[in-house]
Amino acid sequence: MKTYNFSAGPAILPADVLKQAQTELLDWNHTGASVMELSHRGKEFDACAIEATQNLRSILNVPNNYKILFLQGGARAQFAAVPLNILGGKRAADYIDSGYWSQCAADEADKYCQANRVDIKTKHDGKVALKPMANWQLNQDAAYVHYCPNETIDGLAIFEEPNFADKIVVADYSSCILSKPIDVSRYGIIYAGAQKNIGPSGITIVIVREDLLGKSHTALPSVLDYAIESKHDSMFNTPPTFAWYLSGLVFKWIKQLGGLAAMEQRNLQKATTLYQYIDGSDFYQNHIAKPNRSIMNVPFVSPNEEIDKCFVAQATKAGIIGIKGHRIVGGMRASIYNAMDLDGVNYLIDFMRHFEKTQG
Ligand code: PMP
Repeated sequence: MKTYNFSAGPAILPADVLKQAQTELLDWNHTGASVMELSHRGKEFDACAIEATQNLRSILNVPNNYKILFLQGGARAQFAAVPLNILGGKRAADYIDSGYWSQCAADEADKYCQANRVDIKTKHDGKVALKPMANWQLNQDAAYVHYCPNETIDGLAIFEEPNFADKIVVADYSSCILSKPIDVSRYGIIYAGAQKNIGPSGITIVIVREDLLGKSHTALPSVLDYAIESKHDSMFNTPPTFAWYLSGLVFKWIKQLGGLAAMEQRNLQKATTLYQYIDGSDFYQNHIAKPNRSIMNVPFVSPNEEIDKCFVAQATKAGIIGIKGHRIVGGMRASIYNAMDLDGVNYLIDFMRHFEKTQG
């Protein structure tokens, strides 16, 4: 039976990419060895790393005054790395509170500075919504403003891009990077764990504007120091070579499909189809106001928790995996990252329709 993977991360990867990795697993690039078995200092891997970096730069349109780093420790390591790299002499930073992950980032930053929580949650037609950027109350003394454009657990998204004059903006793009074109020049730092829209877990992308390098705290571990990592082309220590290689294959796959404009169209079509079905049903509900609905993570509930449990169990039997909502919020969540296609979403909707009938 074919399975449809709606996991929030680690998540579905493009089947073509996995097949290519499979064919090259034992003999990569005519080296007679797997990419996992070769030195990161060798010319073969070096070329692979450079190509992946260049392809990411081209699809995301990263300006030349930004470094692209491939680091480890996931997005959570960046929760600490960001303040330790760029606070400079300042003592406070603004943390926009939009949900679970932005709160986690603020909690970690508390160790290093005063993390000012800026609550932007509000209600719109009785549903959860986020205030527009123009209404964010930022503090003068903050070294930077941090926000999370896509709250993976809550299914909440901020589609506006920042425009705060000379403020340094830091964004946790973990669950929406490469889902649509963005204007990188509006950010000081963009970071993202790979395991949703990029590749396997174990690698984290950091895109940092060059003028922010070199302000780091003396107690910052070298592996998290953007200046050191950038000087060493992200190879200060041994990088996760397989994850880097696989991410490179995903970048090529995105390019072949038409880049981020094509990804956005594909993602909007999937999300619109699913939300339209949920909105048209009396059985399922999504609690997020339309302007803030994530196009990557779609949480929904049935009439009660018992039925939710039954839904998850029966969905699994029908080949739908990873659909259970995060333990904090319960219900269900369909993560529909780049690699999920419209057929997968339609399969889910067919199952939802069928399931509702069986509950009558
Ligand atoms: N930020 C966001 C938006 C996330 O979705 C996640 C993981 N789900 C994290 C941070 C934490 O990522 P990691 O496990 O890579 O540290």
